[in-house]
Amino acid sequence: MELFDLREFDAHEQVVFGHDAATGMKAIIAIHSTTLGPAAGGCRVWPYASTAEAVTDVLRLSRGMSYKNAMAGLKFGGGKAVIIADPRHPKAPELFQAFGRFVDSLGGRYVTAEDVGTTTADMENVARETRYVAGLGRAPGEAGGDPGPKTALGVYLGLKAAVKFRLGRGELSGVSIAVQGVGGVGYHLCRLLAADGAKLAVADVRPAALQRVVEEFKATAVAVEDILAADVEVLAPCALGAVLNAASVPRLRARVVAGAANNQLAQDQDGSALAAAGILYAPDYVINAGGIISVAREYYGGATEEQVLGDIQAIPRRLTEIFERARGENRATNAVADQMARERLGRQPAHRVA
Ligand code: NAD
Repeated sequence: MELFDLREFDAHEQVVFGHDAATGMKAIIAIHSTTLGPAAGGCRVWPYASTAEAVTDVLRLSRGMSYKNAMAGLKFGGGKAVIIADPRHPKAPELFQAFGRFVDSLGGRYVTAEDVGTTTADMENVARETRYVAGLGRAPGEAGGDPGPKTALGVYLGLKAAVKFRLGRGELSGVSIAVQGVGGVGYHLCRLLAADGAKLAVADVRPAALQRVVEEFKATAVAVEDILAADVEVLAPCALGAVLNAASVPRLRARVVAGAANNQLAQDQDGSALAAAGILYAPDYVINAGGIISVAREYYGGATEEQVLGDIQAIPRRLTEIFERARGENRATNAVADQMARERLGRQPAHRVA
């Protein structure tokens, strides 16, 4: 694999491979940029089919974190970690302690937290070996803890702003919304949407997760293969990336796409295709910044939950600014957001890949 020549490489500052013989840990940490502060981004545990697949994923996720942190105005650069393992198998505390030592070896250039496949308990184990970690348990009223519910709050507020902008509706009551993936973020998003009286269609590959939202929020279960093309006004992708692609975009019936998943666009041009079809796309790294906003407050210390909630209120304003600029300049929302993010990072324009 020609790492430096990969499209996803995009002038990463550092990519480090970690191995621990005792636990079998195989991990990669990618640091895209430390221009604005230590590179921060979660740790994903995933059973990648190959090292090449893991490298590609960590690179695109880490660049996404640079954009996300820059757009949220945080004193964080962008980075990400992946551990090659199956999160459905029991995860030994020692695995995360080994990962903690790996993080610590970078001396604070990278700060970790939860992502897909990791929990607050895993981060507590990481914290036994390093202080460069957030997303830990916290006292009531303090900033921090599981970022998932904070991400969901930001997505909920951003989705409302997108609905107002595209559909001209100030309330979500009666608005039909399809949620793909009802895990850590998707579940909390459904809770907020249901409380507003939205009509929910949901899909998940885990039957238990699906059953929970169907029962608690009177959501309608939809087959996994049908959720993207569901006949709804809003689509909220909250599972994995690259779901908006050349095959799926022509099938979408939603007028708004606003969800939590990272790297929703397979390629830049999928954002253009959405715009051409009259579908308003809320750039993923802008709408899903609630979790990292919480992580930043926790990491730098001395903040309250109240302050985190206040910071998250800026997400819909930021999105509306992007929507207005995109409309005024007749450009896709992802192109506008990428340009704004890269300007903040002092980087030249580049093509964003999923
Ligand atoms: P999670 O693993 O808790 O939930 C993801 C859910 O999606 C799971 O229930 C899984 O079964 C389901 N899923 C997987 N493939 C699916 C498919 N093809 N169809 C339907 N469902 C499927 O992860 P999460 O923390 O909720 O994160 C969801 C997304 O949001 C991820 O892309 C993540 O990177 C992104 N994100 C999460 C946070 C956070 O704070 N947790 C922050 C920013 C972005």
